[in-house]
Amino acid sequence: MRMGLPVIAADLNPVAVLINKAMLEILPRFANHPPFNPDSKKKYHPDHKWTNAHGLAEDVRYYGRLINEDAKKRIGHLYPPVTLSDGRTVPVLTYFWARTVQCPNPACGCQMPLVGSFILKKRGKETYYVSPIIERNGKNSLKGFEVHTGEPEVKGTIISKSGARCIACNEVIAHPYIRQEGIAKRISHRLMAVSADTGKGRAYLFDPNQEQQILIEPKWIPEIPLAHNPKNISPPLYGMTSYDQLFTKRQLIAYDTLNELIIKLRLELTGENVNEDYIKAVVVFLSFAIDRLADFNNSLTTWKPSGEQQMHLYIFRQSKTTYSGQYRPLWISVRRRVQR
Ligand SMILES: [Zn+2]
Repeated sequence: MRMGLPVIAADLNPVAVLINKAMLEILPRFANHPPFNPDSKKKYHPDHKWTNAHGLAEDVRYYGRLINEDAKKRIGHLYPPVTLSDGRTVPVLTYFWARTVQCPNPACGCQMPLVGSFILKKRGKETYYVSPIIERNGKNSLKGFEVHTGEPEVKGTIISKSGARCIACNEVIAHPYIRQEGIAKRISHRLMAVSADTGKGRAYLFDPNQEQQILIEPKWIPEIPLAHNPKNISPPLYGMTSYDQLFTKRQLIAYDTLNELIIKLRLELTGENVNEDYIKAVVVFLSFAIDRLADFNNSLTTWKPSGEQQMHLYIFRQSKTTYSGQYRPLWISVRRRVQR
């Protein structure tokens, strides 16, 4: 294609098809296209020379911001702020949930948090960790969580290859039991902590009010079955058999809202004296932004305490190099075509 020859491409993976389409068809077609959003028109001289995909990128950023503001108005109330110890109310950045399963030890019966680690932050000498509160009254029960600094009380790993260790009785429970509980829909979840934006960094705390926000039912539930491929796709082994089960209810509401807003935007822009295909191009790139959000905002991501960041989940985890490498031909193709 870069040599200007007719090309036929095919892939079984719809994501790969769409990425190829966007990079090889859509971007070169709109190379050097000026942006049409009102802000850029004001900001740049009408004779400004737009090169490569910079004009399209301006539009994607502008309309992306617009969608973000609209989404805040629609669903911002589902994300209430937290109150810090100094009395300030600040926005929440991250929610730390634990899936739990009942310990099968008849003398215990505690809801075991199935987490890799209770450490929230570990930078230099500073450590924040979650401490589960266990009530030992005949049987053991999980009362809740607290956030502390210093060395964590629960030592060692909770989940390993051999199974999950119960924090109350120390028994190691093998994975087949957890899977069986998952298939029987007996895995529950509890909020362990939140991280909040203090303006200077992150604060870690437990706020019981934050747990309620997750109970709202989404209108849109993508009950699309996950592929049966136990070697590469493990959620079905734990009873999560469709896409909706990979997300919290609030996350589904957020994606539904963002999708609706993109569709609304497309309808609003149509007829605004702009090439219909160019509007479609903007919409394709905005939908890539939602795809990227889904990679980071689902119920199976992990947390990196040293970087204080959540890690993404999907296919790119193993192929980071391919992923960034994929972007390179995009710019090359745009530039070469222009030169020609
Ligand atoms: Zn136990």
